[in-house]
Amino acid sequence: MNVPSERMPALFIGHGSPMNAMEHNRYTTRWTAMAAALPRPRAILAISAHWYTRGTYLTGQAMPPTIHDFRGFPPALSELSYPTSGEPALATEVATSLAQFGAAVHNDWGLDHGAWSVLVHMYPAADIPVVQLSIDAMRPPRYHYEIGQALRPLRDKGVLVLGSGGIVHNLGRVDWTNSLPPPDWASEFDELVKGRVLAAADETLIDYPLLGEAARLSIPTSDHYLPLLYVLGSRMTGEAATIPMTGFELGTISMTAVQLGAG
Ligand code: ZN
Repeated sequence: MNVPSERMPALFIGHGSPMNAMEHNRYTTRWTAMAAALPRPRAILAISAHWYTRGTYLTGQAMPPTIHDFRGFPPALSELSYPTSGEPALATEVATSLAQFGAAVHNDWGLDHGAWSVLVHMYPAADIPVVQLSIDAMRPPRYHYEIGQALRPLRDKGVLVLGSGGIVHNLGRVDWTNSLPPPDWASEFDELVKGRVLAAADETLIDYPLLGEAARLSIPTSDHYLPLLYVLGSRMTGEAATIPMTGFELGTISMTAVQLGAG
């Protein structure tokens, strides 16, 4: 049994395919174990690659709907739901704390698969309130990191900051046989990011377009990478990072996870 601590760790998870919601594999097993090792959160603030929009919004519903934001998967995946509650008061509190970013509560979203495909394994009882925070696609990387910095106080209020995306996420170059090792550029960039996370070299991770060809191929669009910047922004001074999971799905989708703070 976990003893509640003063400060919640923060997590970034590479969520991979939506099918992970239904599967039990080495990634999903690890997500379950990672959650079990954390203090139990009072609430979760999820930043998913899949709420990539214009503006910074928070889901404000008492019961956020499960959004099936994908196509071409088995019908059973679209029948899954993650019926946890939201927390309107938390959504309002976070929107207020992010007023300088123009944040607002918004009731036209819910929990997308970037959040729930992971949460069904981390907290299968769906008994912890979840609020989602959108990613403003029109803003530069530093903006997202600065929002992460503004989220730090939540970690001392029992809120788990959970970024869900992928350090490497290139759907145009996936290996559909899922049998080949990741290409050199993918493993090189994943290793580079892990090293810089461990060294707290955040500035170079914010300025990722300067990291060369491997970065360009790994981040063809920034949606899956930016949740990492929110998590890194929430890092407390001197706080240690760990890499609780590594791996690739389909060659070019990184499953690497990052944890700030001890579980
Ligand atoms: Zn995704």
